Amino acid sequence: MTTETMASVASSGYIALDETYAAHTYHPLPVVLSEGDGAWVTDVDGRRYLDCLAGYSALNFGHGHPVIVAAAREQLGRLTLTSRAFHHDLLGEFARDLAELAGFEAMLPMNSGAEGVETAVKLARKWGYEVKGVEPDRATIVVARNNFHGRTVSIVSFSSDPDAKRNFGPYTPGFRTVDFGDAQAIAEAIDDTTVAVLIEPIQGEAGVIIPPDGYLRAVRDICTRAGVLFMADEIQSGLGRTGRTFACDHEGVRPDVLILGKALGGGVLPVSAVLADWSVMSVFKPGEHGSTFGGNPLACAVGRAVVGLLSTGEFQERATILGAHLAERLEGLVGRGVVDFRCRGLWAGVDIDPALGTGRAVCEALLRRGVLAKDTHGSTIRLAPPLVVTSSDIDLAVDALAGALQDLAG
Ligand SMILES: *Cc1c(COP(=O)(O)O)cnc(C)c1O
Repeated sequence: MTTETMASVASSGYIALDETYAAHTYHPLPVVLSEGDGAWVTDVDGRRYLDCLAGYSALNFGHGHPVIVAAAREQLGRLTLTSRAFHHDLLGEFARDLAELAGFEAMLPMNSGAEGVETAVKLARKWGYEVKGVEPDRATIVVARNNFHGRTVSIVSFSSDPDAKRNFGPYTPGFRTVDFGDAQAIAEAIDDTTVAVLIEPIQGEAGVIIPPDGYLRAVRDICTRAGVLFMADEIQSGLGRTGRTFACDHEGVRPDVLILGKALGGGVLPVSAVLADWSVMSVFKPGEHGSTFGGNPLACAVGRAVVGLLSTGEFQERATILGAHLAERLEGLVGRGVVDFRCRGLWAGVDIDPALGTGRAVCEALLRRGVLAKDTHGSTIRLAPPLVVTSSDIDLAVDALAGALQDLAG
């Protein structure tokens, strides 16, 4: 038996073990990863792959970024968890640094993105009743069709994806869905019960859907005029991915409530946060919301390192420059297996000609060519490499995509 066939026996062993004992909530590509460094990962057979998913943008700074890993290691040896029953010496510094980076007065630390969104929903409702004066238990939040905000019962209650939603009812009421990109529809959905508008500035899971120019500014104006909170879920779009610190920056817009997650944890652990000014945040009083792990010392050390990396603008600039290169290279594939694509910074949604095969089939062909990517819906592929990727890595990814499309064309 050659080393190579022995190695594939090893990987099928891991896959079989996963499938036997771990719930089948995902459909992973058949690759078993064991190491990562920057934009590259290695499987148990020693094969290397360019990571063009970057943990759904949780790995904006790549695998094992030395600054993040050093911060985590140092904190592991000092103090990792206190609960919020006591102060610790890192929460205030992390909160200050993140609030300054984002331009808000206050932050509330949580862990997963979904918890961040749940926190924002609770914040908006409480603000609606206590500050805006909405009648008890009548609050509504306007959301966009084809959103992705997480997996909790309340969040799937306003999902339009049948797989995410089916058989998880009864659903949480209080949400109104309008088309994404249509500011007028938001204005029309707002009434006396409305406390907030919650959108992703760019819809990630839906296929990197970029709204028409001026949309975010129009939503901002509508919310200001109606006296409702504009809540931006920048869990995937934020923290450098689009070439700016936040996707809302492209239109010079500041939401009232900003939700962050994914890359905030530096690819090390889940760290999310909700940011707002005190006029909103102060509706939360002790005992009214919280999380055992939210704002723990290890998370704060890592989150602070992430904020530090973003404070120089270096990663935002890389995303802009390399993103322009990615867009230019993708342009060359249009009409050659690619029907259309959208790109903002280092974040692209690529629509494959459905006649060639599913997005899944393209990702399997990419895997064979040493590139990891993930289909979103149907025949759309998302490319979101870590921001530490190089220009030649991007060439390699686009060449692999061209090759994969040829493989499928037969
Ligand atoms: C991933 C994501 C979430 C959910 O984050 P989890 O950490 O998986 O709970 C919410 N909103 C957006 C826009 C996301 O991309």
